[in-house]
Amino acid sequence: MDAKREVNWNSWAIALHGGAGAISREMPAEREQACRHALKTALEAGRSQLSQGASALDVVEAVATLLEEDPLFNAGHGAVFTSKGTHELESSIMDGCTLQCGAASNLMTVRNPIQLARLVMECTPHILLSGSGAEEFADEMNVERVDNDWFDTPHRRHEYERFRDRQPLEQEGSTIGVVARDVEGRLAAATSTGGMTGKLPGRIGDTPLPGAGTWADGRCAVSCTGQGEEFIRHAVGHEVSSGMRWGLLPLYESVEQAVASLPPAAGGVIAVGEDGPPVAIFSSKGMYRGLADAAGLFEVSIWEN
Ligand code: ASP
Repeated sequence: MDAKREVNWNSWAIALHGGAGAISREMPAEREQACRHALKTALEAGRSQLSQGASALDVVEAVATLLEEDPLFNAGHGAVFTSKGTHELESSIMDGCTLQCGAASNLMTVRNPIQLARLVMECTPHILLSGSGAEEFADEMNVERVDNDWFDTPHRRHEYERFRDRQPLEQEGSTIGVVARDVEGRLAAATSTGGMTGKLPGRIGDTPLPGAGTWADGRCAVSCTGQGEEFIRHAVGHEVSSGMRWGLLPLYESVEQAVASLPPAAGGVIAVGEDGPPVAIFSSKGMYRGLADAAGLFEVSIWEN
């Protein structure tokens, strides 16, 4: 930790997402309420921790864990199915102060992938562990493992059956991500997902790739959601930082530009910068999201307001 950092109790900010995609405005009212409630609960947890001085890194991990545990979202319990009817989870976390990052992919049994990503960052010389090696590492670290079908939910099974029966399926997202700035001005980002319904086993998306689905440095912390291949192709996480560094754009404009560089409806991005309010911008129908800061912002939304 950098002891020279000044504390400013009025400077924290947080944004979280629960995925971007073809989120129908006709979704059942109970599901909409449950999603809003889950986002609000997670946002309140983040607000409370940041306002008490917790580090951005601890907060993004803790809030991402809460969202992974919620079966509504496509991360941890509630993850989507692969084309073979299994679950393969991925995650990453990044500390903007140090550029340290950790990630995990192709996880079949790790209950909270974001916690494993942090351990990869802190306890190995590596950045990304995948598959059986990642799960052996989870055992070494005493990280909880569960059976693969523990991640099943009736909602995801229904989506999978539609996919398998070749019925039209609009990917509604539901990957989760959190970005935060703490009272010492440190930035951090975390993202966790089950990927896309019907993905080929072994497919790796943008979520566990620093620079694509997740990024944090001294300028910004970024978490992305949407069609992973596009976010990889355009290195969206890093692009937000580059827009600020080389294009001299403010955070909002840089995120806007990065999202606009993607094909239409590709997804969305949340970000925080060194100062100012958190940002959430998307090109898809909707993005489950929450924004809060020390200036009194506290809002949860799904579609364009
Ligand atoms: N970006 C994720 C992936 O491609 C999916 C999502 O954000 O919904 O795996």
